[in-house]
Amino acid sequence: MKNTMLGVLFFSLLILSAPSSSSSSSSSASEGVCIIGSGIGGSSVAHFLRKYSESELIRIRIFERQVVVGGRMATVSISGETFEAGASILHPKNYHALNFAKSFNLTIQTPSLDSDSSFGIWDGHNFLFKTLDLDFKFPFFKKILSLANSFLMFFRYGFSLFRMTNFVETTVDNFLKYYESFESRPVFETVDEMLTWAGLYNLTTRTLEEELLDSGLSPLLIQELVTVITRVNYGQSVSISGLAGAVSLAGAGDGLWSIEGGNWQIAAGLINSSHVELHLHEEIESISYLGDHYELNSTNGNSYPCEVTVIAAPLDEQNISFTPSISIPNRSLHHTHATFVRGFLNPAYFGVSTGSEIPTLVGTIESHDLPFSSISVLKQHSEKDAAYKIFSRKPMADALLDRIFSIRKETLRINWGAYPHYNAPERFAPFVLDGQHLYYVNAFENAASTMETSAVAAENIARLILSRSSGKTKSSSSNLKSSTSNTYDRHSDL
Ligand SMILES: Cc1cc2nc3c(=O)[nH]c(=O)nc-3n(C[C@H](O)[C@H](O)[C@H](O)COP(=O)(O)OP(=O)(O)OC[C@H]3O[C@@H](n4cnc5c(N)ncnc54)[C@H](O)[C@@H]3O)c2cc1C
Repeated sequence: MKNTMLGVLFFSLLILSAPSSSSSSSSSASEGVCIIGSGIGGSSVAHFLRKYSESELIRIRIFERQVVVGGRMATVSISGETFEAGASILHPKNYHALNFAKSFNLTIQTPSLDSDSSFGIWDGHNFLFKTLDLDFKFPFFKKILSLANSFLMFFRYGFSLFRMTNFVETTVDNFLKYYESFESRPVFETVDEMLTWAGLYNLTTRTLEEELLDSGLSPLLIQELVTVITRVNYGQSVSISGLAGAVSLAGAGDGLWSIEGGNWQIAAGLINSSHVELHLHEEIESISYLGDHYELNSTNGNSYPCEVTVIAAPLDEQNISFTPSISIPNRSLHHTHATFVRGFLNPAYFGVSTGSEIPTLVGTIESHDLPFSSISVLKQHSEKDAAYKIFSRKPMADALLDRIFSIRKETLRINWGAYPHYNAPERFAPFVLDGQHLYYVNAFENAASTMETSAVAAENIARLILSRSSGKTKSSSSNLKSSTSNTYDRHSDL
């Protein structure tokens, strides 16, 4: 998959890795924090350790098995154009990501298709619902069209739409507690504690469907629109937990954004600015606790002594051997197949006579014979030429693609071990895996998997490391830098 990434990505990251050999050589061998994974989780741990640590000398190493940083924030190139392959959109209230973007002078973009986009719900035979798609050039008429589409939605789903919005807003408001200052926000030792404090834990114990029915949503809205959204965002049905579901629904709202050129630049910025020794293309295969420090061994044959070890990658499909062994609840990753096609959809497949009748986002309901979860236009090049992204639970075979597309010039496939297979009631692995100094950021991923939730979990892990390293295991943060340094600048002016 990484072979498909833009050359510029490799170039940028070579620059990024260059200082690694020269930095922090003054630290003693066993000192320091070793982080496994250079996604937003690992890079955020490094950032927050630097930000909150009183010691400038702390040595931080990041190990990344790929040749690039970013993990599931990655781009693909199709016909010379770059698109997000994994994590693509951020919510306007993702304040860590917003602050990172701002501090690294990254350019924020909002979806370019916003004004010209149309949406349809496909059941494998018919469109159950379609928004109007008229090519108005003037903003006034676009506004009228948008109002007409809101009316169409209301006509089909009624007041349930408002109840859905309330459910999402209440959850987002609770999540915002994670940006409160240190005075009111403790350091959390477990995921359960962290979720309970924010009033989010109960949502992980029941399915989204149960939560929404209790909130008064109609079964039609749940089976159609809500299902479409959970299938697009998590490839799964409304049987995911209420919390993962609320996060998924929040990811379908207004004001969504991304980083021009690729969200992976957030991780690159965090690593670059945190004076990290970056070991690219170095996979950690074993972690042994030797009484006073950990020894990490890599598949390159290298050994690294580390006082603190942080795992910032899902452990579900890993071959890391632990001595002594660790025990965490079973969890499996949901695989999402992302297929990118440059070409043109086949109107006959969708039972319409022209391509323009096919919505720019085709969502789907739960049905056994549906071979994909969604198809979206990434960029319309000309009337019969566009770049598309398809999400599916199984690989999209050539024969199938040849039925769905009338023109197919280029195809690219990625099989993502994408996010946890959500299963309410969720059981969470501990943040501290061995009671010592072995930490696990992605224990939080059972709550919800997003760039921001990784950053939020990473921030707590950084605080936990610093407070536990000084023997203070509860909410006291006296070894952290000024507690007010953590009050976030909340942007609402995207
Ligand atoms: C298709 C898809 C769409 C998504 N859409 C969105 C979205 O729109 N918005 C959103 O917010 N989130 C989205 N997500 C979820 C989001 O990508 C993740 O929640 C987030 O990026 C996880 O970051 P992380 O740092 O925790 O893990 P990762 O990004 O997975 O980083 C872990 C890193 O660790 C490395 N690694 C693993 N094992 C080892 C080892 N043994 N040694 C060395 N290195 C190792 C991996 O190579 C990887 O780079 C999406 C995910 C997918 C797959």
